[in-house]
Amino acid sequence: MNDTIAGIVIRETEVKETDAIITVYTADYGKLSLYGKALRKMSSKNAYACQMFDYSDFLLDYNPNKDVQLLKSANLKKEYMGIRTDYDRLSLASVVVEIISQLEDDSMFDILQLTLEKLNSDKEPFTAFNVFVVYVLNMLGITPVVDECVSCGSTTNIETISIADGGFICHNCNKTLHQKPLDVEMLKRFRIINKASFEVYDKLYGLNLNDYQLSALLVEFLCTHSGMRLKSWRSVQNL
Ligand SMILES: [Zn+2]
Repeated sequence: MNDTIAGIVIRETEVKETDAIITVYTADYGKLSLYGKALRKMSSKNAYACQMFDYSDFLLDYNPNKDVQLLKSANLKKEYMGIRTDYDRLSLASVVVEIISQLEDDSMFDILQLTLEKLNSDKEPFTAFNVFVVYVLNMLGITPVVDECVSCGSTTNIETISIADGGFICHNCNKTLHQKPLDVEMLKRFRIINKASFEVYDKLYGLNLNDYQLSALLVEFLCTHSGMRLKSWRSVQNL
């Protein structure tokens, strides 16, 4: 009775006139669906702690047999104002939570929190987003091949990237694939980002990884090889 569970709001669905179901990502229980009565009423005293990306303590009677738990109250621990007030950061954070909400894995609380921290205030939000997507690609075992040609294993004359084939393609193999050649700088940066992680984040500044084009390649890679579809990606494309 009266369990207090900390988590981050990753989805909200309107129900009836003023109710809402929020999905909260927690460290201990993975994703939880919480039913908030009158949560969308102006007078709701819980609403301020239940908005998208809020990190809050949620009070409920946890019942493992129920798909949706009844929310009693919520207290804000941290709100990401940098995300809420900047359209670029908001768009990227929306894609992050959409990816997380589609993954089966329940152990991503720390990486979610870390990514939102960076998206909230880091000077290179696209770098943070790219590192997050690379983390997910690794986790799913669909990391792009960036040390050699994915088709023949050659380590020289790398010419382009084939999303469908899974990584770098050399000049020879591209004679039959006919992918548009990419400039060497872009290939280098794609290689670096695919070896990057939050552990070495401070060393990534200034390497030109804060780049939408890299994000677009990584997201296309993720969607192609995981079967995921991301509605929220459209708002990033329009930035
Ligand atoms: Zn090749």
